Amino acid sequence: MAYSINTYSVKKWDLGELFSAFNSPELQAAFDNVEEQVTSFEGVRGKLKADMDAGTFLDVVRASEETTRIVNKVYAFAELSFAANTQDQNAQSLVGRVQQFVAEIQNRTLFFDLWWKELDEANAERLMNAAGDYRYYLEAMRHFKPHTLSEAEEKVVNLKTVTGSNALINLYDSITNRYVFKVEVDGEVKELTRGQLQPYIQGPDPDLRARAYQELYRVYGEEGPILGQMYQTRARDWHNENITMRKFNTPMSVRNLANDVPDEAVNTLLDVTKKNSRIFQRYFKMKAKHLGMDRLRRYDVYAPVAKSDKAFEFGDAARMVLESFSAFEPRVGELAQRVFDQDHLDSEVRKGKQGGAFCASINPEITPYVLMSFTGRARDVATLAHELGHAIHAMLASHHSTFTFHSSLPLAETASTFGEMMLTEKLLAEETDEAVRRDILFKQMDDAFATILRQVYFAIFERDAHELVVKKNASTDELCALYMENLREEFGEAVELSEEFKWEWVSIPHIYHTPFYVYAYAFGQLLVFSLYQQFKQEGESFKPKYLKILSAGGSEAPERILAEAGIDIRSPKFWQGGFDVLNRMVDELERL
Ligand SMILES: [Zn+2]
Repeated sequence: MAYSINTYSVKKWDLGELFSAFNSPELQAAFDNVEEQVTSFEGVRGKLKADMDAGTFLDVVRASEETTRIVNKVYAFAELSFAANTQDQNAQSLVGRVQQFVAEIQNRTLFFDLWWKELDEANAERLMNAAGDYRYYLEAMRHFKPHTLSEAEEKVVNLKTVTGSNALINLYDSITNRYVFKVEVDGEVKELTRGQLQPYIQGPDPDLRARAYQELYRVYGEEGPILGQMYQTRARDWHNENITMRKFNTPMSVRNLANDVPDEAVNTLLDVTKKNSRIFQRYFKMKAKHLGMDRLRRYDVYAPVAKSDKAFEFGDAARMVLESFSAFEPRVGELAQRVFDQDHLDSEVRKGKQGGAFCASINPEITPYVLMSFTGRARDVATLAHELGHAIHAMLASHHSTFTFHSSLPLAETASTFGEMMLTEKLLAEETDEAVRRDILFKQMDDAFATILRQVYFAIFERDAHELVVKKNASTDELCALYMENLREEFGEAVELSEEFKWEWVSIPHIYHTPFYVYAYAFGQLLVFSLYQQFKQEGESFKPKYLKILSAGGSEAPERILAEAGIDIRSPKFWQGGFDVLNRMVDELERL
């Protein structure tokens, strides 16, 4: 499929498909509608019996899905409006209202979940067998049976979460998103958002890179004690709820169970990664040579090797991404194009806009929404491919229910990272300039570092930090020391660390928002390396297998979805396979 150049331009997204405005009658009607549905749902309480017939049971599940669909829309409208402008008071108050509303609804409908988890095995099996696409959703819910509290306790937890950890996280976002970073560029002091600072952090000028990093952690460090206190509270709250009350084995097991990945598989992933940190250290030593340095400073980890400051027009970026997707499979390109055509992409750089990038898949039939800040760097093009990969994943699974279309976390990064690989392939095929080619290959290693080693060490830090906070009442300074220790192990002798990096951890939203989320990136990237290898070996016959993994969405356990593609996530050999790919990449770079 051909795309005319510059068809698309940088834009703000249009949330109109969700709701037209904060005061729209439809939005109020949605709240009222949910209220009515929940009242009617409460009426089924008496019908829930161990020997109930499957038809009645399915009606209950369908009713619950219908309510969830409306709630998802309202929730998404609030969250996306807030992400588009975190300083917008209407958005802030809608987020608060929705969180409160959802907690109340959860409490009123909790009896169903609790009844379902308590139900005996034989009857649960009988009802699940008749549940079709809902099966895995129902099965996964029962995994939490040993960690579920009484109805009264669950209600208290729900309500306290709204004004407790959720409020804390919103506050963290509001505080950190208004940070302004001052950097002198070409004799002029610029005031930048974190998103705008990023190009300097990863830019070609070594001095500017250092100053940008120093400014980043000066600002975070200045409020480090407050942000650190927030983290301590988050860790304690996690412990109180999950270990003390719900009896999980470890803080990380909570995430593993939610991901439906065995602890054993995750621990294997972390161990194998630690053992392979030398691959990256070897890479950094080589990179130092290419940059003409004796030793890489932490500031230089993402430095471009070729001084290509190649800037991309948004239209070209969009064309390249869409073409690379279509070259793999035309249907994939068409799905990605929908995100542009329906104005579901917010690519503009704006003050107050949430930093980073994400893709929000709301309900199966709604084209996902993507947020990013496009500044014209090669990395932004990769981000575009990444987030559109997420969107494609959700769209390929849109034949599933609202409960099962959404991929579980460990598989959530599959289509996104695969999308980036497809783009890289295309860039390499089209690029004739040797310097730019080398830059692309180095970038691929930089990204592998950022998604694998870095994320695994974050997860290791989280594991240690949660323990230190809970068992030893660690202070913020002690957590900083722990973080530096973690970095020293990650980089070995290959990279010189400077003091201000001790504040890096307070600048990572993920460890506040979703503890232990980060290993999913490493999981996804290593999985994709292994899948990409298969694609290179098998060609066309690989595609249906890959598309099948994606279209499964969250309708099966990740372990089972992958087993069908011949992958055993408990085996160290499987994970090592991903690192072997990386090792070869470093060899190849050394030959250049
Ligand atoms: Zn992603």
